[in-house]
Amino acid sequence: MLDKVLIANRGEIALRILRACRELGIKTVAVHSEADRDLKHVRLADESVCIGPAPSAESYLSIPAIISAAEVTDTVAIHPGYGFLSENADFAERVENSGFTFIGPRAETIRLMGDKVSAKDAMIKAGVPCVPGSGGALDDDKKRSLKMAKEIGYPVIIKASGGGGGRGMRVVHSEAALLNAITLTKSEAGAAFGNDTVYMEKYLEKPRHLEFQIIADEHGNAIHLGERDCSMQRRHQKVVEEAPAPGLTDEERAHMGKIVCDACIDIGYRGAGTFEFLYEDGEFYFIEMNTRVQVEHPVSEMITGVDIVKEQLRIASGLPLSYRQEDIVFRGHSIECRINAEDSRTFMPSPGTIKQYHSPGGPGVRVESHIYNGYTVPPYYDSMIGKLITWGEDRPSAIARMRGALSEIVIDGINTNIDLQRDIMADEAFRRGRTDIHYLEKKLGL
Ligand code: ADP
Repeated sequence: MLDKVLIANRGEIALRILRACRELGIKTVAVHSEADRDLKHVRLADESVCIGPAPSAESYLSIPAIISAAEVTDTVAIHPGYGFLSENADFAERVENSGFTFIGPRAETIRLMGDKVSAKDAMIKAGVPCVPGSGGALDDDKKRSLKMAKEIGYPVIIKASGGGGGRGMRVVHSEAALLNAITLTKSEAGAAFGNDTVYMEKYLEKPRHLEFQIIADEHGNAIHLGERDCSMQRRHQKVVEEAPAPGLTDEERAHMGKIVCDACIDIGYRGAGTFEFLYEDGEFYFIEMNTRVQVEHPVSEMITGVDIVKEQLRIASGLPLSYRQEDIVFRGHSIECRINAEDSRTFMPSPGTIKQYHSPGGPGVRVESHIYNGYTVPPYYDSMIGKLITWGEDRPSAIARMRGALSEIVIDGINTNIDLQRDIMADEAFRRGRTDIHYLEKKLGL
């Protein structure tokens, strides 16, 4: 097992990784910015290193600062968490070239899957169903683009190959708007992602977002932990996630699960990962792969009993997976509500000091958060301050527990989206299940 792991992240995921390391007897190094000295995991880690000023570009995104911290602490491996450098192939390469283990897939896999055009190509080759589209990047041939959109059928969506975080996409409803949309998306993508490659896809009008969690080791084994439904979104950002997906049959799960596991073996995947799909009229369409642990991984853990972060650490140590596919038994239902420091109505970030915090509890309630009484949420980073996860024998009991937990939780001093989460849990359509990705925005009148 790895001797010492540097956690190249902050907030709740840094704490989650620290806890997994502790359980496995691995020493931990926390790295933090000047604004993050008071983070909970920094206090709990065996060692901590300040890697720079508050702005992420000078700290959590600074590859030299993180590598130096690893060198001075005799770190063996680096866990990137999610966001920040977690899907940066150059970072993974630098980590490995500096003699450390990167806890994630090989750099070339990150590169392949990080570019959406090459990822889609690889998935088509591996037999994974994809959204019908341009089958590669769009070139400057206007006639070709127009012809292609006509064949695919409007509406279409123009997407940046290097896009992420719900940015770099434009829906086109008519031929008249197509060429302008391509030009605009290209120039925005060039500015935002340093890569102006764009491609075209059929725009699915009322899909659900379903994704499969996989884990693969270096010994040719890959298993899936079933799917999550992350359709409750605002601006392409997930707000609530659950597992299993309401209405999905065991046959559908086993069928898609096998397809994604085979694809993992096909591309030589290593570590934890997620295949994201849009699901409409009983069909799955691959949109992208996340080559890292995801925010919503706990709901899969809750229904399978597998600790995904511990598996990541074991795989990085070169050990085989602790489970075979037939060991994975799905039990009950789990829901996760993201808790953000933001206004419930305007969604404006709400940094500041937490004057009072009471955590919910009871059977089937899990809290993943780094906040505490007196903690100050800095203005520099993502507004997510924690996640509330519940488990129940079935979906209604998981929802009932979530409603209980949301009524118990108290966070005073800053605004949060807890009211919104309470509304969602009480919403008739959500309670029936199978709402599509536009449901929340429609409900909010956006
Ligand atoms: P990102 O990397 O920015 O998260 P994705 O490709 O995963 O981008 O897409 C994010 C979200 O955008 C999806 O969950 C869905 O809501 C919407 N989306 C993407 N592609 C399509 C499509 N072809 N049709 C309809 N919606 C789409």
